[in-house]
Amino acid sequence: MVNPYGLTKWANLHSVDGMTTLMNRRVLISGASVAGLTLAYWLRQHGFDVTVVEKAPAVRPGGQALDVRGTALDVARRMGVLADLRLARTDMQGMSMVDGSGRELHRTTHETLSGGALDGDDVEVLRDDLCDLLLDAARDDVEYLFGDAVTSVIQDDDGVHVGFETGSERRFDLLVGADGLRSAVRRLTFGPDAGFVHHLGSYVGVFTAPNTLDLDRWQVWIQADDGSGGVVMSARDNTETRVYLGFPSELIHYNYRDVDAQKHLFAGRLAHLGWEVPRLLTHMWDAPDFHFDAMSQVRMGTWTAGRITLVGDAGYAGSPLSGQGTSVAMVGAYLLAAELAAAGGDHRAAFDGYERRMRGWVGQNQALALVNGARLKAEGEGRDPSSIEGPVMDDVKHAISLDVMPATARWRG
Ligand SMILES: Cc1cc2nc3c(=O)[nH]c(=O)nc-3n(C[C@H](O)[C@H](O)[C@H](O)COP(=O)(O)OP(=O)(O)OC[C@H]3O[C@@H](n4cnc5c(N)ncnc54)[C@H](O)[C@@H]3O)c2cc1C
Repeated sequence: MVNPYGLTKWANLHSVDGMTTLMNRRVLISGASVAGLTLAYWLRQHGFDVTVVEKAPAVRPGGQALDVRGTALDVARRMGVLADLRLARTDMQGMSMVDGSGRELHRTTHETLSGGALDGDDVEVLRDDLCDLLLDAARDDVEYLFGDAVTSVIQDDDGVHVGFETGSERRFDLLVGADGLRSAVRRLTFGPDAGFVHHLGSYVGVFTAPNTLDLDRWQVWIQADDGSGGVVMSARDNTETRVYLGFPSELIHYNYRDVDAQKHLFAGRLAHLGWEVPRLLTHMWDAPDFHFDAMSQVRMGTWTAGRITLVGDAGYAGSPLSGQGTSVAMVGAYLLAAELAAAGGDHRAAFDGYERRMRGWVGQNQALALVNGARLKAEGEGRDPSSIEGPVMDDVKHAISLDVMPATARWRG
């Protein structure tokens, strides 16, 4: 058992230095993606009883490539998955950029816009592959409830009473929302999305399509004058592509659950794009993994209410513009579990420590997203992006430490 403090099962301890700690805690995690699976792994390592509920029938596929960077690479290393993560990397050889009609503007074999320098330490990996790795690591002794969702939450002094979509009801000691940008736990606990989800002025959709462009470990970025566009990249040994496109827009009101309506909206807003986009869009209709949402940030004054807290995009999405959403989710999950372990399961102390550790770094990452957005806009308008001041990825990705002080040391002052 990996334990950063050299102790086993912190949460099971009855007494540490004369202070009675709380007994083994039953934790429900809503959402089995990057944040939820990383948290499940670490809570299990620390001796908690972990149940994960995921509304999809299995770990949800889809998405483009994500990046594990900086301190998050240490989380992966401590989980023992770093070598496999590096093997699963997208292994891109470079990228080209085309305008709205497909005219090539730029080509490089040194970097990609999504993953950065090709000889760098960061790992770009398909979202599906990362989730599969995390699930493998967090499979043992974790209860998974796929195809279900939290529909009601009532907490009292002793626990959280949870109602599920399938009709069952159960009690847990703690509930963690790791259920993404449209988190149900956040909505049930803190209120409607409108209070927390901040629209950044565009929409993005992603789906898998055949590699009709014959891309060989290559990305093609398309940017039209009106700001719409995105990237097509080959995946899985060039057997398929991931198509990631977006368009600028004020907030649109649509049904988040009606995928067909989202596809019509998406195709309609991209109909003016040239190059290969019309052909790629024909594959969208049958894509099993189409995912569409607003480019948004989640900003909250606190992620915690009593025995309930949030991790990853549910509490502090930075948006894909930050390039850091996955790394922030992994580090947040690690630190939340570590704080719970260090506090012997005392959720008040742990959630307080978690918020204190994460809040500044979350702010830096959200600022990075806004600056990246402004730099991209400047580039599209032919201005020098480096003239826009603000945080840079190479600094931000390392600007948090995984060290957590054990509870005994804190009590001794
Ligand atoms: C299908 C998909 C595709 C994505 N594609 C991209 C991409 O191309 N580029 C990018 O930068 N980011 C993408 N993201 C977001 C990216 O995964 C996150 O920003 C980041 O990895 C942090 O992950 P997270 O675990 O906090 O949230 P997410 O990865 O969003 O995971 C949330 C999980 O919660 C589940 N869930 C949602 N509601 C409920 C509920 N009520 N009950 C139970 N479970 C629920 C979801 O099915 C999902 O598994 C995608 C997310 C998803 C779900």
